[in-house]
Amino acid sequence: MALFANRVRQIGTENAFKIGPYINEVAATGRKVIRCNLGEPDFPLPQHIREEVKRQLDNDMTHYVDPQGILPLREAIAADVGATRGIEVTPDRVVVFPGGKPPIGFSQEVYCNPGDEVIYPSPGFPIYESFTAYLGLKPVPLHLDEQKGFAFNGDDLAPLITPRTKLIILNFPSNPTGGVATRAQLESIAGVILAKAPPDVRIYSDEIYENILFDGSVHQSIASIPGMAARTIIASGASKSYSWTGGRVGWAVLPTVEEALMFKTLNINYFSCIPGYNQMGARLAIESPESKPAIQRMVRAFQERRDEVVKALNAMDGIRCQVPKGAFYVFPNIGGLCERLGAIELHDGLPADVRAKTSPATLVQMFLLFRYAVATMDRRAFGVIGAEGRHFLRISVATGLDDLKEGMERIRAATQDADGFAAFVREGRRLS
Ligand code: PMP
Repeated sequence: MALFANRVRQIGTENAFKIGPYINEVAATGRKVIRCNLGEPDFPLPQHIREEVKRQLDNDMTHYVDPQGILPLREAIAADVGATRGIEVTPDRVVVFPGGKPPIGFSQEVYCNPGDEVIYPSPGFPIYESFTAYLGLKPVPLHLDEQKGFAFNGDDLAPLITPRTKLIILNFPSNPTGGVATRAQLESIAGVILAKAPPDVRIYSDEIYENILFDGSVHQSIASIPGMAARTIIASGASKSYSWTGGRVGWAVLPTVEEALMFKTLNINYFSCIPGYNQMGARLAIESPESKPAIQRMVRAFQERRDEVVKALNAMDGIRCQVPKGAFYVFPNIGGLCERLGAIELHDGLPADVRAKTSPATLVQMFLLFRYAVATMDRRAFGVIGAEGRHFLRISVATGLDDLKEGMERIRAATQDADGFAAFVREGRRLS
């Protein structure tokens, strides 16, 4: 009998966590690794939020609390989501989770039976895809097009909707591309959903980067479009907005109280509740007038770094990079570089079992890390299905400007090192 259940052998992972030991391995040789792999802001938790968490610990907010999330936080979320999306939200439809991640898998558990179809963006946050196989669902990637700024229209979505579609995942601003849909694009997506999908198909709108928008733009949610709030789960959290990935506070607004209670039941089964002191900190973060300037400072820094990095990448042979409109990632197309370095042929020449676990962009990613000490993420880390032939890297700008400049210089040097690349691949270590 096998040790592990079939189900658990199907689950994927988030490579941003998996790459940590590789980085440590390079760092252990004494080289400073430039970390462009990180999906977390590099700023400290703003002081006013930090103080509140400490105060709540001293207040004894250290016991079990409401598994749905404490009421003051749910009230703050309802008021904020309602005001920013122009819709009515009540606290009994809000559920709090340990971060923005759990409601992704929970939504698939709550709404989908085996064989049901989940449409999700690809490249996209890997957890959208990894849960489908675990739960026996059919993954239906919606491939994002670089030429459309990694956003899409209703026309792109329409052919993917079938009678088995149960969940449609959207993520704007997007990880890993930084793509942001315009209001017109959201209207066209909503138009197709309203026309083609029955009312019990849910839209999971992952809006965790809602506050990280560049060039003065304002967040747009599909839930704001008439008819969509009744079908949309609006998910967000404290990790990105307040540079608080370790706080583990995320939330979702469900279309009905009945659905919120279903998520609450899962919370009870899995983890009972989220630490009350952190929830009180998140409440203050949402309500305090001190938060907005803190977010603005962070966004200004990300925008300056974005401009620097996009300019540097576009000046390199074989790299083409769109200007992201939000989040803190840039997503260069390295197709030309893969050709220059011979990555495609070298990948084709690998033994079948190794080849299946890697890609030309992965070989470049590993070469950059092990030979040039720059950590990036490959295209495959953001959805494997249909990723073949798409050569991209994700570079996070949640790293200081000086490090980013150094990282760009190292990448530029690597683009000129075809011999070093071939030798690295032939050596056959660390290729995936
Ligand atoms: N959704 C997206 C699109 C993300 O990029 C992330 C984090 N990288 C999450 C959800 C999960 O966030 P958290 O760390 O709060 O669980």
